[in-house]
Parts: sequence; structure tokens; C-alpha cells
Amino acid sequence: MAQYETLLSRFIGYVKVNTRSDPDSTTIPSSPREVNFLKSIAEELTELGLSDIKTDPNSGYVTAVLPANDDGNTAPIGFLAHIDTADFNAENITPNIVKNYDGKSDINLSDDGQWTLKPSEFPALHNYTGDTLITTDGTTLLGADDKAGVAEIMTAMEYLLNHPDVKHGEIHVGFGPDEEIGTGADHFDAKGFGVKYAYTVDGGPLGELEYETFNAAQAVVTIQGKDVHTATAKGVMQNALQIGIDFHNQLPASDRPENTEGREGFFHLYKMTGTVDQAQLTYIIRDHDRQKFEDRKQQMRDIADKLNATLDEPRVKLVLTDQYYNMREVLEKDMTPVELAKKAMTDLDIEPVIYPVRGGTDGSKISFMGVPTPNLFAGGENMHSRYEYVSLQTMERAVDVILRITELNRQA
Ligand SMILES: [Zn+2]
Repeated sequence: MAQYETLLSRFIGYVKVNTRSDPDSTTIPSSPREVNFLKSIAEELTELGLSDIKTDPNSGYVTAVLPANDDGNTAPIGFLAHIDTADFNAENITPNIVKNYDGKSDINLSDDGQWTLKPSEFPALHNYTGDTLITTDGTTLLGADDKAGVAEIMTAMEYLLNHPDVKHGEIHVGFGPDEEIGTGADHFDAKGFGVKYAYTVDGGPLGELEYETFNAAQAVVTIQGKDVHTATAKGVMQNALQIGIDFHNQLPASDRPENTEGREGFFHLYKMTGTVDQAQLTYIIRDHDRQKFEDRKQQMRDIADKLNATLDEPRVKLVLTDQYYNMREVLEKDMTPVELAKKAMTDLDIEPVIYPVRGGTDGSKISFMGVPTPNLFAGGENMHSRYEYVSLQTMERAVDVILRITELNRQA
């Protein structure tokens, strides 16, 4: 497997750079760290010899093109990955490389023994007998989400450049910021990307293929109370906190993240602040089914209306904001990119693992911008945490899948 000699060193080089996105920032990209990293990505694309390398000032995305070397009749295809890492310490990331893992031992992450990766806690470790695992030192996340995807796409392009005998159509690649804070794809120029289909390479373990995500909205409930002295409160006080509790209690207790799984949607109260005078409850609403998603939003409107009708004046204000939609709605109309990915995996003896994501991907937005974009595995396990790790062999398989998709696309 010396096929992708640069994959490991490229990946290690990427993860050592702190590219954590910043949810409190108003700039795009959200952190200067990301801007710098994207600059180095553009330089690497130049050095490798890709064409048309651009940094979009609106989105921060770096895009490039690998020109076709076939007869020119193949539809352009795209691969995308995000360069930012999640909301967890990313300073001085010092990856450990565990060669030829035996599939059963505990892995000491830190020399002091404080952090250990144990198969008893993370049974997926058993799947990696004989593999080279890349782990953290326990103090940071690893950032395989999604530097694995970045490294895999880059390595696949390098492979094609070094093997001109392998024929392919035009391939567009894109590397973007701020996926982890949910805003990266908002400004992506999907039309300008110039492809019919694309893939994000941002999934988890071997075989993951995702084309169904949640529909997502945020709900902010603001309540204006009336604060008076408790001694003379009778018939006068309107306690914003109490009204907030009343609002929340009218939502079904069964429809909470901790009580749902699979295709079951939910209302998730994730922030609640306030005083008697004013209170605010912030929710996310999630459902795979579009109609049920719309019904959930209506349910919230109805509760607000009903409460307002019982109060001395309308005190409950509800603001609903759609965040992204289930990409399945788009892909159902043309399953070609999903079928290509499935066939690529089965051709490579990888069993496609398909299930509805209880979240979104950049593809949830990009698909609705006109470029159907399912998500492929990148290999990471235990993402967003100090227990994050990835197998080099799974990363190699991801490169195989990218290459196989470009090959199958020529025949599609
Ligand atoms: Zn990711």
C-alpha cells in the first residue's frame, strides 16, 4: 500500500495547524487561523499543478480544477472538504501514530496516563486490527474531521497528476471554512463551482454514504414580563420565566433529543436565560420529514398564540429561522451521484453504510443551491473530542473511492 506515500505526512501536517472556527466571530472565514490555512492549501494546489486556483472573497473557499485528460465528454464532478475543526481545544495538536494496532489493547494517549483510548469504551477500535491509527495526545481533538477529507482529496488529485495514464473528466475541488459553526456553506458559490454533482468527503468510518439529513430550524422565544414587588404582585405580575416554562411544557416531552433516534425528530431547548422582566428560550427543531418539520414549526406558533390569548397582552414573541433542509428531497430527483458512490464502494469491496444523518452536512445546503452533494466517509472516529482517531488504511480506502468515482463518472 505504498500507493499513496504522501497521505500520512500530508494529514499530519494539516492536523498540526490550529484551524478552529469561531462561533462568536462575524468575519468570513470566522478565524484568521482558517484564512492562513486556506492560503497554504492554495499554495499546495499550485505546487501540485492544478489549474484555475481561486480564493472566493465572499466565502473563503479555495477551489481548483484538474482538467480532463479524456475525450472531454465527461461531466465535471466535484469534491469538497472543510478545513475548520470543532469547538474543542485545538492548540498544539500533537498526533500520535500507533502502527500495527492489535485491535484490543488500550491506547495511552498521554504519557502521564491521564487519557486512554479503550476498546471497552469505544468498541469500534476492534475494527482496526493491523491498522496504523492516528490519535491525539489527550489534550486536544485530532481534526480528522475534516482534515482527513482534505488530505484524501488532495492525495487523489496528486495521484491523478502523477498517473496521466488514468483517464478522467474535469474534476473540481473545494476547501472551505466554518462547517463546524454551521455557516461555511452559506456563502459557497455553488453555481460558480461548475459541476453537475459533488461530494463532501466529511463522513465517519469506512463505507459511510449519506444523502439524507435533517430539516433544520432555530426558534427563539422572547417573553416580555411585568416585574413588580412580590408583596403587591397579585393580579399584576407577569413572570416571564413562568411563561417560558409554560411554553416549554406544552411541547411533547417525548420529542426531545434524549428521547429520540433514527428518523424521529425533536425540539431541543439548548439555551434559557431570563429574569421576571424578560426571558428567552432558544430551540433547534429537527425532522427528516419535511411535512413533519413544517408541522413542528406550526406547533410552536400555535403554542405562542394560545399563550398570548391567555395573557393581558401579547408577551410571547416567536422567531423561526430555517437553517437547512434534507438533501434527500433534491437527490431523490436524480440519484446518479448516490448510485456512483455505491457502485464505487462495492467495486472496491467496501460495503456502503447508508443511514439518515441526525444532523446536517455542507451538502444539505449545497444540494439546495443546485449541486446535489452527498457525503462520503473520510474515516474519523469519535469526532469533536480528545478521543478522536482515524485509521490510515481507511483514509487510503477513501482515496480509492474518490478515484473510483471519477472513473465511473466517465461511464455515467
Ligand atoms: Zn466535518
